[in-house]
Amino acid sequence: MYAVAIDGPAGSGKSTIAKLLAKELNISYVDTGAMYRAIALKAKEENLDTEEKLKNELENIKIDFQDNNIFLDEKDISDEIRTEEISKLSSKISKYPFVREKLVLIQQDIAKKKPVVMEGRDIGTVVLKDADYKFYLTASIDSRAMRRYKQNLEKGIDISLEDIKAEIIQRDDNDKNREHSPLKQASDAILIDNSDLSLRDNVDKMLSVIRGE
Ligand code: C5P
Repeated sequence: MYAVAIDGPAGSGKSTIAKLLAKELNISYVDTGAMYRAIALKAKEENLDTEEKLKNELENIKIDFQDNNIFLDEKDISDEIRTEEISKLSSKISKYPFVREKLVLIQQDIAKKKPVVMEGRDIGTVVLKDADYKFYLTASIDSRAMRRYKQNLEKGIDISLEDIKAEIIQRDDNDKNREHSPLKQASDAILIDNSDLSLRDNVDKMLSVIRGE
């Protein structure tokens, strides 16, 4: 196994940074948040609004990656999962142990087959405990909310900065305080606060660790 694990809260730049890093290292990038989002989308579409209903349907859910796109039951859902509604719902369903167990197995299986940069909330602590490199990215709540706000504007989505900030605070709270695999820095992870760092500088910092410079 060769793996780089990246964890951190919403808006810490994990996805963009992990993608850039994987490109530089010429290995695959795996966005585990997209998998929780895929299950949330399924729950929404099929009205799986209780733990019981979701549990019963979980066996039949098929999630695949092709390049950096995610497919649910053969359908490309890469854009559909990026709404605020799915953000909230994914954070809600991610507390169920049966959801986590299923996704962790898929994630571990991917990392067994090829070298990866994998990002999420529990990669360094649970999924890839033996990763070669572990990073924990974070930034101030104001920087994270502003990033999300700008990303939304680019996509033509108009949600106030205050609402985004409230949503991020709520999601951080859910992710950090859930009983199973809460978001936390692994004891052997390198902490990077990128509030005042450019994406490029953040990636370069990680590359110099990996290349032993
Ligand atoms: O990373 P992203 O914001 O897309 O993740 C959506 C949600 O999925 C998170 O708020 C979190 O609740 C959940 N998640 C998780 N474990 C992961 C990745 C994401 O619980 N490894």
